Amino acid sequence: MMIGCHGLVWAGDFDPPGFERAVTRSRATGFDILELPLLDPYGFDVDAAIETLGRHPITITASLGQSRETDVTSEDLERVRAGEAKLNRAVDVLAALGSRHLVGVLFGELRKYSEPPTARARANGVAVIRSVADRAAEHGITLGIEVVNRYESNMINTATQALRYIDEVDRPNVVVHLDTYHMNIEESDMYRPVALCGDRLGYVHVGESHRGYLGSGTVDFPGFFRALDSISYDGPIVFETFSTAVVNENLSRMLAVWRNLWDDSDDLAQHALGFIRNGLRAVETIALH
Ligand code: MN
Repeated sequence: MMIGCHGLVWAGDFDPPGFERAVTRSRATGFDILELPLLDPYGFDVDAAIETLGRHPITITASLGQSRETDVTSEDLERVRAGEAKLNRAVDVLAALGSRHLVGVLFGELRKYSEPPTARARANGVAVIRSVADRAAEHGITLGIEVVNRYESNMINTATQALRYIDEVDRPNVVVHLDTYHMNIEESDMYRPVALCGDRLGYVHVGESHRGYLGSGTVDFPGFFRALDSISYDGPIVFETFSTAVVNENLSRMLAVWRNLWDDSDDLAQHALGFIRNGLRAVETIALH
């Protein structure tokens, strides 16, 4: 199982020094993957990243959420086209880095809504995801549709809704991306959504109920790890956390990160890696019983 670390454990900005810090600290901690927050794929320095990865190899994945101007689930075709271009650019960046996973709220603006999406807006978004998926497939990249809570999307809040959405998209490289933080808010338990997804689960975020240290909140991690084992999940498992200790102007505000839940990135990351490894190991031993 590949275990990863979200970039915001290490850096708020992914300019070349921030990227290098995130890469080297993730490797030193023992993670297999660094997930890059690729909120601005146009501003990301690809050449510098390739150079860094040449010296410090690690598997890269990337996540993003759309802004108002790039919301593909919209009736405004200018936004839809801008969102499609941004996703295509992100695919190109990841292809250059040899990455296989683009995940997150690719399908819409990350915010609290006061109304549901219209049928036309939804159809516009589905068409974009389908088209970007075809481009991604040429590079062996899968698109993970992240299920997030009601304050971050008005469309995909449960695994059931995500499965319906990817059925509409109808491309084999579009998969469900579950996040325990969001599941803890919206799902009935930590087991059923994973079982429903089965082999269509392609990416996992592990986050605590308050996004702090794993094990210090209310998420049922033993249940979640058993669920992953029951479907023989072998995709990425990435630790995601946010604190005012490390801030990205855009992302931290979109995600309402107002409190300091940790201040020592190294201690936090070591703890998370151990927590995930131990949880997965405990589940493995059940086969011996
Ligand atoms: Mn997440």
